[in-house]
Amino acid sequence: MAEMLVLIDHTEGAPRKIALQMLSAAKTLAEGSGDTVAAVWLGGGASDAAATLGAHGATKLYHWDSEDAAAYVTLPQVEALQAAFEASGADTLLFPSSNHTKDVAARLAIRLDAGVITDCTGIEAGEGGRWIATKEVFGGDMITTSKVADGKPQFLGVAANAFPVEDTGGGAPEIVALDVSLSEGATASKVVSVEKQASADRPDIGEAAIVVAGGRGLGEESGFQLMEQLADVVGAGVGASRAATDAGWYPHRYQIGQTGRTISPTLYVGSGISGAIQHRAGMQTSQQIVAINKDPEAPIFQIADFGIVGDLYQVVPKLVEELEARKG
Ligand SMILES: Cc1cc2nc3c(=O)[nH]c(=O)nc-3n(C[C@H](O)[C@H](O)[C@H](O)COP(=O)(O)OP(=O)(O)OC[C@H]3O[C@@H](n4cnc5c(N)ncnc54)[C@H](O)[C@@H]3O)c2cc1C
Repeated sequence: MAEMLVLIDHTEGAPRKIALQMLSAAKTLAEGSGDTVAAVWLGGGASDAAATLGAHGATKLYHWDSEDAAAYVTLPQVEALQAAFEASGADTLLFPSSNHTKDVAARLAIRLDAGVITDCTGIEAGEGGRWIATKEVFGGDMITTSKVADGKPQFLGVAANAFPVEDTGGGAPEIVALDVSLSEGATASKVVSVEKQASADRPDIGEAAIVVAGGRGLGEESGFQLMEQLADVVGAGVGASRAATDAGWYPHRYQIGQTGRTISPTLYVGSGISGAIQHRAGMQTSQQIVAINKDPEAPIFQIADFGIVGDLYQVVPKLVEELEARKG
């Protein structure tokens, strides 16, 4: 029986949604393979989060309670994870497929002679203890299955919202402190400041249950104020099409699509967005899609669960008014 490690992404002392999704997925996989799930928490706050991690499948929690985890760029996390592998003898790591953790995983893979698959949207057991990972490529036009052919352990980068969060009702995990001694090179690049983005009070679009998105149909930058108004009534994140971000109406980090973020919220509301294939690649797995567009032939209506044909400047203010009235 081996341990399956799950790298916990956390913010302000709480695990992010992707961390709970990965734990839930790991629990299901581990049940099938006879393995157990161990969470790895780098930085302070692990013990406060232990009950939550246990409730989502972790039976063990490796932690490295050191400010060094966030004080330097990448390498301390690589070396702490390496210590977790040495302590556990694990042969699988699940990590969130963010740019930062892909960097961490790639560097660790070189050290451990591991194989890495990123952006997995599905994972199942294959022959010989190999995991078969599914991922969407070419903007979601094709789905590939891959496995680590050479090398062990296997590292699987998990895409946001690919798996549901499941409360397994597990108890508090056994907590194990990692013994990490950093190499000299690990502290060569220091993080000197971290600035919170002005709009950071809204949920991140990768994690938000509701995402309100605006496109070229807004006509001008100020149209995003209307999107933000709608978002704030329902506690949503705000995203944009590439046409809108390229026009400079909204920052590029909020772009949804093939060359932007992939989102999978419970509810996506798109206004003035035509639904080009490259945009759809980033939002088509949303559970409910609402589209507001004045053109009844707009392709977004082909995938919308609920479509409103009309001028967004007439529809959205009425929607905001109605939602505010219902909130009381
Ligand atoms: C390699 C590549 C990668 C790309 N990556 C991305 C990506 O990641 N994300 C992305 O979004 N795009 C991407 N694109 C661009 C994509 O092809 C489209 O050009 C873009 O998505 C269009 O954005 P839009 O829907 O906002 O604009 P348009 O296609 O111009 O659509 C605007 C829509 O607004 C409607 N409209 C206009 N006025 C109103 C009104 N008052 N009320 C209601 N509706 C109105 C119109 O009917 C129209 O349907 C990529 C393209 C390429 C080639």
